[in-house]
Amino acid sequence: MKKVEHIGIAVKDIEDANNIFAKLFNQNHYKVEQVQSEGVITSFFKIGETKIELLQGTHQDSPIAKFISKRGEGIHHIAFEVTDIDSEMDRLKSEGFELINSEAKDGADNKKIFFVHPKTTNGVLIELCQEKSS
Ligand code: ZN
Repeated sequence: MKKVEHIGIAVKDIEDANNIFAKLFNQNHYKVEQVQSEGVITSFFKIGETKIELLQGTHQDSPIAKFISKRGEGIHHIAFEVTDIDSEMDRLKSEGFELINSEAKDGADNKKIFFVHPKTTNGVLIELCQEKSS
């Protein structure tokens, strides 16, 4: 794995959160993106090499809305950048990790992504991502 690509934070209201984090970082988010398939709206800040991704569910049954109703707002996942997402997927599977996705799928920010279930990673939801070549 190359680096921590971003940290995902689940929020109830992305506009409120954008204002709070803009004050915290002393800079504005650089993009907002909706991922229809995930029922999520995201915004991104860039701090050095690492991004912060704010996530708000767009409907009650979305994974983010469910996460917030169970655990409240807060850190939702840590994403690591990899160079070959398919081979990392095979490697983690063979190491016994439970993957949430059976194959890498399109995520926000021009990435292929998949998630590792937190029950096999000490309670931390892990995302692996690879920039799509386009
Ligand atoms: Zn993410």
